[in-house]
Amino acid sequence: MLRAPRSHVGLTHNEQYRRALELCEHLPFHRPWSLETFVAGVGVLVGTPITIGDLPDVLIAEGLTGLWIPAPLMHSIFVPAEADGEYREHLVAHELAHIAMAYFATESERREMRREVFARLAPQLPLTVIDHRDPPPMLCYARSEMMHPLEQRAEWLATLILCRASDIREPLYPASLPAPQRALLDRFAKMYGADRA
Ligand SMILES: [Zn+2]
Repeated sequence: MLRAPRSHVGLTHNEQYRRALELCEHLPFHRPWSLETFVAGVGVLVGTPITIGDLPDVLIAEGLTGLWIPAPLMHSIFVPAEADGEYREHLVAHELAHIAMAYFATESERREMRREVFARLAPQLPLTVIDHRDPPPMLCYARSEMMHPLEQRAEWLATLILCRASDIREPLYPASLPAPQRALLDRFAKMYGADRA
């Protein structure tokens, strides 16, 4: 079931938004929201752990706001060290969006993604070379490339992730509640899916 936030009514005609919304339904949201738990959950979903590191200053100076380096044993995400709060969550969510988009893509979509990324990184490379290479790193810039369909979809998915996060940021009950009542409410929450977004 597609659940667009109320403030997004009317956006479902946008193909990139609609595809982001479909993908968002597969992501592991749990209450209360924690970025670390979500990152770990996406890692479990795609079968590869995800680490987050600091984006080097030299790349920030070039206008990058995030970087994803895919690898068989570990996905590495890099965001500026000084980014904090919801801005940092958004930057991380944007890179997670790229990881999820690649994971759920069909083989032909994956080939298309690889071609689109290489067209930006190394336009001189022939397709015959690109099609036989490993996935390239995903470089995400602040604004200049936001018109690119892949970037639009990743940005919509990051926005949707943060919308869900704000819905489930608070626990269902106060921490002071006695343990037996907490256990009972936990059971009800799981039964009705309220422990998820
Ligand atoms: Zn991006």
